[in-house]
Amino acid sequence: MPVLCSSCGDKRAVLKRPKTGHSLCKACFFWAFEEEVHQTIVTANLFKHGEIVGIAASGGKDSTVLAHVMKLLNERFNYGLELMLLSVDEGISGYRDDSLETVKRNQEQYELPLKIVSYEELYGWTMDAIVKQVGRKNNCTFCGVFRRQALDRGALMLKVDKICTGHNADDIAETVVMNVLRGDIARLRRCTAISTSSEGEGVVPRCKPLKYAYEKEIVLYAYFKKLDYFSTECIYSPNAYRGHARTFLKDLESVRPSSIMDIIHSGENLSVRDGVKMPLQGTCKRCGYISSQSLCKSCVLLEGLNRGLPKLGIGKHHRLHDKILTQQPLTEKEERKLKAVHF
Ligand code: SF4
Ligand code: ZN
Ligand code: ZN
Repeated sequence: MPVLCSSCGDKRAVLKRPKTGHSLCKACFFWAFEEEVHQTIVTANLFKHGEIVGIAASGGKDSTVLAHVMKLLNERFNYGLELMLLSVDEGISGYRDDSLETVKRNQEQYELPLKIVSYEELYGWTMDAIVKQVGRKNNCTFCGVFRRQALDRGALMLKVDKICTGHNADDIAETVVMNVLRGDIARLRRCTAISTSSEGEGVVPRCKPLKYAYEKEIVLYAYFKKLDYFSTECIYSPNAYRGHARTFLKDLESVRPSSIMDIIHSGENLSVRDGVKMPLQGTCKRCGYISSQSLCKSCVLLEGLNRGLPKLGIGKHHRLHDKILTQQPLTEKEERKLKAVHF
């Protein structure tokens, strides 16, 4: 006997929702998924009528589902948003060049304007060249820092009011776990926020409409909707630390499916004791981007690359920032310490 959809009781169920355990037909699953994203958007007041919103698009499943659902909800509920796709080309041959082809197809499928900003044009370095210099251990640090700023720069070029990203519930739970394990209180406090206001000049507000969507459901949604997305992993092995947090969460989830939502809930409700020292937000003296040091992370990483001292931006070398700013030469000992290629 085929199982009937527990929502309409009419059609045949084709899946069991990971989030609720309900057996649903395709149409009822689509409706439930879209309705939940809509509720997230409305409850958190993520957008205002008339805003220009850049969708951070990588061609992967999360951002493809985000673009699809944002376009659909914008029309269904008359949000009045002007949507655009915004992509970053990190310069990873055999990976990003292929995924950007997917974004270009999405642009046509969804009839949305697309802007691509590249690391090469912004920083003068592709990730391929960076990995050649720094090796494969800390490459994601460079990539992550550069991407954050690249998205802001692209958003400013497009004059968007807000960027929305495809972070899902699993990503956020992983970040909570990572920040707890690292004792990074400042990030722990920020990482569950569904939206951030502009933290300073050149920083565009961001939001995460898929914050409460499980990764498994995003995959099901993309699969049943037959969305065109790119599913290959980056060739420069993804962030190892996040990988551990991910495996840990998947194990927890198999024993207790609500673990992901529970961790997000815990992260949202943590409060920081009075008197805990938080970094003071200022601006980078070189490029003007937000920074708690005299130079922002991006400028320090770039300086390290350009000087052939890749370790400069890895770890804490804050006391060297002033020397860099005033272009004083480093001592031989400092240079030696920062030169190691495979660290
Ligand atoms: Fe960049 Fe690392 Fe992600 Fe690859 S895995 S795209 S190098 S952050
Ligand atoms: Zn149904
Ligand atoms: Zn800077």
